[in-house]
Amino acid sequence: MAIKTIEDIEVTGKRVLVRVDFNVPVKNGAITDDSRIIGALPTIRHLVEKKAKVILCSHLGRPKGERNREFTLQAVALDLSTKLGAPVTFLDDCIGEQVEIAARGMIDGQVMLLENVRFHPGEEKNDPEFAKELAKVADIFVNDAFGTAHRAHASTEGVTHHVKESVAGYLIQKELEYLGEKTAKPERPFVVILGGAKVSDKISVIDALLDKADTVLIGGAMAYTFRLALGGEVGDSLAEPDKIDTAKSALEKAKEKGVEFLLPEDNIVCDKLDFKAGTLGETKVVEGDIEKGWEGVDIGPKTVERYKAEIAKAKTVLWNGPMGVFEIPEAAQGTFAVAQAVAEADCVSIIGGGDSVTAIKRSGYSQSVSFMSTGGGASLEFLEGKELPGVAALDRK
Ligand code: AMP
Repeated sequence: MAIKTIEDIEVTGKRVLVRVDFNVPVKNGAITDDSRIIGALPTIRHLVEKKAKVILCSHLGRPKGERNREFTLQAVALDLSTKLGAPVTFLDDCIGEQVEIAARGMIDGQVMLLENVRFHPGEEKNDPEFAKELAKVADIFVNDAFGTAHRAHASTEGVTHHVKESVAGYLIQKELEYLGEKTAKPERPFVVILGGAKVSDKISVIDALLDKADTVLIGGAMAYTFRLALGGEVGDSLAEPDKIDTAKSALEKAKEKGVEFLLPEDNIVCDKLDFKAGTLGETKVVEGDIEKGWEGVDIGPKTVERYKAEIAKAKTVLWNGPMGVFEIPEAAQGTFAVAQAVAEADCVSIIGGGDSVTAIKRSGYSQSVSFMSTGGGASLEFLEGKELPGVAALDRK
């Protein structure tokens, strides 16, 4: 059954506690990437327009249940106020008498931001008492923090037991639409691109997507474990020899299901990868096996062409994980070429969280994709078919 959203309920004049994801990077007190704040604006603006009393809460970083100035949300309040063109009241705690007094005194359409919920140990423990305190100021709870929806914390799950209504904001609604509906009944061909470091991190996602995809394109270091599973050599490439059986099962499942499962036919290899220094030493293109002393760092030009051709035919693309060590420009070409192909394809294109989003942003093609997930771990768990506690706790239509 579909989850209720902010459009399904009456919010005018009501106190609405909104769990947003304001876990933004901060350096010397300045916000270095405000995309999460921008992401929360549609929900906040809707509530303001409907004249709700908007009380925002979020976590920032890992203060481990203690008050720590390093992780204050104060700078976010300022930034948000500029973006909204209206004052945002900042409170230096998220529970307690001062918060209750301020909440009682709010006028319709006012926006207030509470201090970091993780300054209290009860947040991550999902302590019912803390959740109850948090809920005290609200008639309605809105969850719009997809990035933490896979965690049952007080501000994502616990709080729902102490308010009259709990619904999703626009951001979560969109995540569910793209990661859920659009991949459950995809327009075909449905091409899944998977990369990144480890098979072990993504095997559950691969398994779940083999039930839905027409074609799977593998890149990143993950490809080398698959190469080992097929009896190939990978030299000094990052691989997981203890996951060969896991990789073999995925290859078998792909065969059974008639899913086209492509591995890189060529790779860019280097003899001295220094991730910190951002250098590779000598590089060359190698087809097939990789010899000792060399390490695969990107998919090669033939693979790029092959993958581009598959992506061009797609009607739905889901992409998670870079094709190589994209942080180093010389090993980013495969990832950027795939990004371009995805952006140019006439299809629904969905970028699953974390590094893939960073990679597509760096490639310069992020404007041309249909959807970029805001959740790393949450988007993987959701694609695996797991129920996210922060979503499961919301009211159904
Ligand atoms: P993940 O978080 O699993 O999506 O992995 C992303 C990380 O995988 C990035 O930091 C990449 O640098 C890394 N990665 C991708 N391909 C390779 C490779 N061939 N060798 C080493 N690391 C890689």
